[in-house]
Amino acid sequence: MRKRVGIIGFPARHSLSPVMQKAAFAALRLAIDYEVWETPPPDLPARLGSLRAPDVLGANVTIPYKEAALPLLDTLTPTARAIGAVNTVLHRDGVLVGENTDAPGFLRALEEAGFSPSGARALVLGAGGAARAVVYALAQSGAASITIAARRVEWARRIAEMVAAPVECIPWEAGALTKGAAGADLIVHCTPLGMAHTPYASQTPLVADQIPPSALVYDLVYTPAETPLLREAQAAGARAVGGLGMLVHQGALAFQIWTGRPAPLDTLRQAVLAALKGGYP
Ligand code: NAP
Repeated sequence: MRKRVGIIGFPARHSLSPVMQKAAFAALRLAIDYEVWETPPPDLPARLGSLRAPDVLGANVTIPYKEAALPLLDTLTPTARAIGAVNTVLHRDGVLVGENTDAPGFLRALEEAGFSPSGARALVLGAGGAARAVVYALAQSGAASITIAARRVEWARRIAEMVAAPVECIPWEAGALTKGAAGADLIVHCTPLGMAHTPYASQTPLVADQIPPSALVYDLVYTPAETPLLREAQAAGARAVGGLGMLVHQGALAFQIWTGRPAPLDTLRQAVLAALKGGYP
């Protein structure tokens, strides 16, 4: 029997997950189709319920359902439960398991960039869903300190409550950002600033003068490949890494969860690069 996986979101059609996963299934000659399940909010419970069909292996979950899906699943992995968000669902014998591969995907991307977060002083910019996964991953990896900068500091505080590590929450103001960045070995950008095809495409959260040359700047934004923040980081003499690695690794982990096989990483990466080159979205 052919199997199916898909992506649940609203909208879902701009996601790069179908491109990546279809390429990986084809490369390994797996009889699995990847479908796009654009799901308006009232349909979310039924859509998740439909994952219990015998031919469905699971799903990706994207905006705006990473948190809303939680109570509709049968069980959660410890990572998904701790973060309070799922981006991957595994269907096994009628049971739906929620997982979060953003956190380990981020850590693998850092590792690939040759950076160990253990003992590092980290500044996280933003306090949305991606920041939750990043802060959890950094805390689990033994970061020495974590500072979260957010327009709504109460959102940062909620993230801080999730982890046992010491977390400082600072406002999104030039002075506070300068101070927060000054002591950082790692700066992780988790807002949409600099993202192509948005009103913020030309914006950067920090300029070169605020970035220590010794820091690694990881921008979760992956389109364009060189964001305004990454240009500022390079101008400061810092190491600058875009979000493509995290995207590929979170997808690779989802692939492994559904198929039980290691993902063909190069295939995933090339599929994303080709889509971006072809003018995605
Ligand atoms: P989200 O839940 O909507 O959170 C966005 C965060 O950015 C919020 O803290 C928001 O603050 C802040 N923000 C938005 N506009 C801002 C502005 N103009 N100035 C300052 N802060 C602003 O989104 P998300 O899921 O966390 O995603 C964040 C980014 O990460 C997106 O660009 C997404 O594409 C990227 N991402 C990449 C990967 C990857 O694999 N590379 C994975 C996940 C996400 P407010 O609460 O004040 O609005």
